[in-house]
Amino acid sequence: MKKKENLALHGGTPIRDSYLPYGKQWIDDEDIKAVIDVLKSDFITTGPTITQFEKAIAEFVEAKYAVAFSSGTAALHAACFAAGIKENDEVITTSMTFAASSNCILYVGGTPVFADIDPKTYNISPQSIKSHINEKTKAIITVDFTGQPAEYDEIKSLAKEHGIVVIDDAAHGLGATYKEKYIGSIGDMTIFSFHPVKHITTGEGGIITTNNEDYHEKLLLFRSHGITRDSLKLKDNQGPWYYEMQELGFNYRMTDIQAALGLSQLKKLNPFLKKRREYAKKYSEAFADMNAVITPYQQDAANSSWHLYIIRLKLEKLNADRTEIFKALQKENIGVNVHYIPVHLHPFYQQLGYKTGLCPNAERIYEEIITLPLFPKMSEQDQNDVIAGVKKVITYYATD
Ligand SMILES: *Cc1c(COP(=O)(O)O)cnc(C)c1O
Repeated sequence: MKKKENLALHGGTPIRDSYLPYGKQWIDDEDIKAVIDVLKSDFITTGPTITQFEKAIAEFVEAKYAVAFSSGTAALHAACFAAGIKENDEVITTSMTFAASSNCILYVGGTPVFADIDPKTYNISPQSIKSHINEKTKAIITVDFTGQPAEYDEIKSLAKEHGIVVIDDAAHGLGATYKEKYIGSIGDMTIFSFHPVKHITTGEGGIITTNNEDYHEKLLLFRSHGITRDSLKLKDNQGPWYYEMQELGFNYRMTDIQAALGLSQLKKLNPFLKKRREYAKKYSEAFADMNAVITPYQQDAANSSWHLYIIRLKLEKLNADRTEIFKALQKENIGVNVHYIPVHLHPFYQQLGYKTGLCPNAERIYEEIITLPLFPKMSEQDQNDVIAGVKKVITYYATD
């Protein structure tokens, strides 16, 4: 008989004393100094640090332009504007994502169309995209889910064939590569987020990278009320004070305070990525021999940036459902999470008419996934605790 350990859920001793979150920022003294320096300078917003940060990100991902925003969500909204998405336009995206990837389509009056995911990679399936393309399709919003790039060769060739814009929601994908090329200039526009759980942080913040000059100009306008002071772009010029509002934009600007933090954080992106990749590899090795656990499948073409590490449960080999196992892991003080509740299942989308059953793969896999803690600042001991906790809980519920 296999030894069954006493779960914390049933009153046993937890694997860890303190709760380990699933993700967290890493801010050091150098970051703090960079922020203080800007606070003491002349510009805390619309200043030179924004431009420096944009330039540094564009260089890192090898794109021509970058435009910083107040959040990744604001950046997604701006990308939909720049792509010219309007009422009666359809935009194909994945349901296995954070709601913002799809909400941005609604912000500009477009209609989200949910393609199903590939059950191996959990990324948007090119075949499913193809089946949803029609004359109303204006754009595809891909998500590089968990940091693994979507299948861009196929997606881009579909887009080219039908004259569709590819917007890459790469909130998970900073530093990832697809066929040796950085995520950042593969799609027509690529969005990154600097929320504290993402690869580098600015508190809140986002950025769009693109090689397209026209998009770049539209994004700059949209970020700042649709207003321009550029004398070359003015339709009229009534004097030195003159500016024009040419589009209905927003105030979606990032501050120089945030940009300073971002610039300083960017210096650490490579070591952060290295840690994430090491931890992901160690998880996959540790769980390789567990019959009830599926570790993340990686395409050869992809080098993931490992924003998230997700295990999938083989429920037929377990005497419990995901909820029970999730609760048991939480009680062991492991900060598990679920990424994501399929967007079309949220009450808001259901009320718009999206039905359960629309994306069978996403819906099934949603019932089986658990996100484990993964962030550069966690220690090797923290990771060993997670591995021991997962083994303890899964062994307890395993049928064989
Ligand atoms: C984090 C995230 C966003 C939103 O970014 P914010 O900066 O929090 O607005 C959008 N899409 C995905 C897939 C994300 O993970």
